[in-house]
Amino acid sequence: SNTSISNGEIIAYRKQHLGKSLSLQYKIPIKMVRGAGQYLLDQFGRKYLDTVNNVAHVGHEHPDVVKAGQEQMALINTNTRYLHENINNLAKELLKTLPPELSVVHFVNSGSEANELAIRMVKVVTGEQDILASEVGYHGNTNICIDISSYKFDGKGGKGAPEHTHIFPLPDAFRGKYRGKNTGELYAQEVQKQIDLIHAKGRKVGGFIIEPIISCGGQIDLPIGFLELAYKHVRAAGGLCISDEVQVGCGRMGKAFWGFELHGVVPDIITIGKPLGNGHPLAAVICTKEVAKKFANGMEFFNTFGGNPVSCAIGTEVIRVVKREKLQEHALKVGESLKLELKKLSVDFPIIGDVRGEGLFLGIELVDAAMNPLAEQTDYLANRMKEHGILMSTDGPDHNVLKIKPPMVFTQENAIELVYYLRKILAEDFMVSF
Ligand code: PMP
Repeated sequence: SNTSISNGEIIAYRKQHLGKSLSLQYKIPIKMVRGAGQYLLDQFGRKYLDTVNNVAHVGHEHPDVVKAGQEQMALINTNTRYLHENINNLAKELLKTLPPELSVVHFVNSGSEANELAIRMVKVVTGEQDILASEVGYHGNTNICIDISSYKFDGKGGKGAPEHTHIFPLPDAFRGKYRGKNTGELYAQEVQKQIDLIHAKGRKVGGFIIEPIISCGGQIDLPIGFLELAYKHVRAAGGLCISDEVQVGCGRMGKAFWGFELHGVVPDIITIGKPLGNGHPLAAVICTKEVAKKFANGMEFFNTFGGNPVSCAIGTEVIRVVKREKLQEHALKVGESLKLELKKLSVDFPIIGDVRGEGLFLGIELVDAAMNPLAEQTDYLANRMKEHGILMSTDGPDHNVLKIKPPMVFTQENAIELVYYLRKILAEDFMVSF
């Protein structure tokens, strides 16, 4: 049974036999045994409200998604060299949500694999190696993904940007290089500066990759106009534009199904991961006809698991559930009212310097009066919330951003409960004593 092995034994085995660079959440790690909707249950039957897991997009263990996977798994699972309508069905569901320019799908198994393939496409299509990426961006765990992830190579164990990666400053209008309104153009000029540097080395631009809201950077909203101008600069230099939709995609933004739509641009390539399989490993790269045509240069793209009928049955059901249960509209409604409540909280507790994000992808940043980041307070808040049965995550280069990105079935009542406990903990001695 679930309780036959103690947590201590599980931890001891992990320490001995699992990768040393794996980490655990919380000082006293939790063992979850059941998920349902926006809730998780630990081995002692304790129920937690989950505001962290944007992978369990339509809710943990959604019965329709589970059923779709189980039924297909009992029939056949093979690779894409056999015909199967499931792969067409998932492609159709995805393409229905996208502008006509983005019309060719490649299926893979993780966000990392999706970005890996997207960068390969850039290199094949443009013949160039040089990639522009944001400071504190994260795009995955493979070699190429780490090479374009400042979050990793500028952090512990990293060795800085590789020769062909060009990092522009985090477009953070709250605490970044340029602050306040109308900073979009200034940040786009920083992208142009990197393009000029590539040209000065006698090379050309391959591609540009960014998330529509920078997640690991601390839920950073891109300043108005930034993406449109940056795309213009990149395209003028012959480069391709990639939108990493791994965290924000599939309706989470509320106002739009995809993050790039918030910025009035159409990328050449988008990458999708986390939410698409609702926890099952499923990801995709969607590109223009032109990119797809040039990428098919004779070398076969084969992926043993990518696009298999079981994964596709699951992905198709996930998108259908988003539509059927009107979860995008729900994310807009609940997200906007939660954001409003968090803004009210920031008036009462000035330690909350900024409230930002879209739909059910929000962040609050904790700073002192001199705008110094308050990492300890942020960590305290997340840990105290856990004691009240609410799971929250922290991020950002200074670890002072509390992130809110729950399963999309998160309700108005859940939002009220979340704000109630945040208000309670913000008033505690530890929070007001700094
Ligand atoms: N892109 C972004 C923006 C991500 O946040 C992540 C994962 N955190 C990835 C790519 C990589 O996805 P995966 O872990 O599924 O490989």
